[in-house]
Amino acid sequence: MNDILKIIMARDPGEKEFHQAVKEVMETVEPVLDRYPDYKRSAILERLVEPERIILFRVPWVADDGSVRVNRGYRIEMNSAIGPYKGGLRFHPSVNLGILKFLAFEQVFKNALTTLPMGGGKGGADFDPKGKSDDEVMRFCQAFMLELARHIGPHTDVPAGDIGVGAREIGFLFGMYKKIRNEFTGVLTGKGLGWGGSLVRPEATGYGNVYFASEMLATRDETLSGKICLVSGSGNVAQFTVEKLIDLEAKVVTLSDSSGFIHDTDGIDRDKLAFVKRLKNIKRGRIREYVEKYPKASYIPADAALNHNPLWAIPADCAFPSATQNEINGVDAGHLIQNGVKLVSEGANMPSTPEAITVFLNHKLLYAPGKASNAGGVAVSGLEMSQNSMGIGWPREEVDSRLRSIMKSIHHTCLDAAAEHGAPGNYMAGANIAGFVKVVNAMLDQGLV
Ligand code: NDP
Repeated sequence: MNDILKIIMARDPGEKEFHQAVKEVMETVEPVLDRYPDYKRSAILERLVEPERIILFRVPWVADDGSVRVNRGYRIEMNSAIGPYKGGLRFHPSVNLGILKFLAFEQVFKNALTTLPMGGGKGGADFDPKGKSDDEVMRFCQAFMLELARHIGPHTDVPAGDIGVGAREIGFLFGMYKKIRNEFTGVLTGKGLGWGGSLVRPEATGYGNVYFASEMLATRDETLSGKICLVSGSGNVAQFTVEKLIDLEAKVVTLSDSSGFIHDTDGIDRDKLAFVKRLKNIKRGRIREYVEKYPKASYIPADAALNHNPLWAIPADCAFPSATQNEINGVDAGHLIQNGVKLVSEGANMPSTPEAITVFLNHKLLYAPGKASNAGGVAVSGLEMSQNSMGIGWPREEVDSRLRSIMKSIHHTCLDAAAEHGAPGNYMAGANIAGFVKVVNAMLDQGLV
């Protein structure tokens, strides 16, 4: 295992998020490797950490002022052992190969856990949609798809949204793909409802995370009703996490963006959430505007000089990090525990640092890693693909009930795999082992490809 880490660190020294994601998985699957010597013989780890294909391309586009801009586009086709590559596109200035490889690597195991036939991939660009006009976003998406179109397809690679890629971007990307290929297919998920999208896809990641948290609480005979909850982020995942928490009578007291967070001790109710959705999805404003509308709430600006995020020091029962990677460090994890948090269910991908995870595990918190708890998004993307290939659309209740049963099944799978391999109650070990076994067995069946 250490050899693998040495190999990837020597080969790609700058990719620290990728190293972090690989290390976490490798540490937890060690008992499985010892049990099945075939895995070692066929260099399964070496193959697993090397993407099947990386596509890197130039994206030139024209800004409103007539100037030419150039961004870098990526698609990581990580692993197709159990289905076509599947995973989102991220548009954010921080995007680089290390971040996308970590996301693609996580995606492989997450998709395996859903029980649906999907391989893992991820992509995006270092383009920042914030502050751009709709026309600029459209021109960027079109330029991006002009290259990406030749690499994807409904049976090859099916991208979706992620940070900075929501309904608007998916629409522009799909329009350009359709024009280039002259075919209307399910090449992207997260599509609009009127043109091939699935009901409950926008809600799926947030709802799924809350369903997963409910399952975890049920193991201790508890429910979310009356629980005080911390949510970070204010985008797609955060919004629908809050919505489902309200449905289940929990009280959400925080939301954030990269500039700061709001703390509303009265709780975010349906009207306030509707305001946040308008603010973020239509007006594309900042979360601090929440306190202009609801002055009883407070706004705390982000302070890069602090060694922690004060959002995670607010007394609460449950935490749902839903913004970005490594947003909870060891200090934050200590604050969460001191202030009463008993459950952390990750909506974002890898939001907890290794130090934070160690704190959670040492304190026997109900801790769900993103690759299990946020898998509802890609699961409903998988259901969108099924509906597209059959040319039908399932009603809302049907998709929601399938989502619920998938989250329930992932929860069981994690607990069973953890118990079988000597780590009872450790959802992280369970998720890594169950996803790993499914993918590597498929790889072994298919030979050295
Ligand atoms: P959105 O773009 O809709 O929202 C992202 C939110 O996180 C925004 O509030 C954004 O604030 C904040 N954020 C982003 N980067 C940072 C940063 N560096 N520091 C602080 N805040 C930040 O994205 P999603 O809601 O779709 O994604 C959120 C997380 O969930 C990501 O980790 C994503 O990978 C993960 N995820 C998403 C899925 C989906 O279906 N959409 C599925 C599974 C996981 P600001 O506006 O200021 O940038």
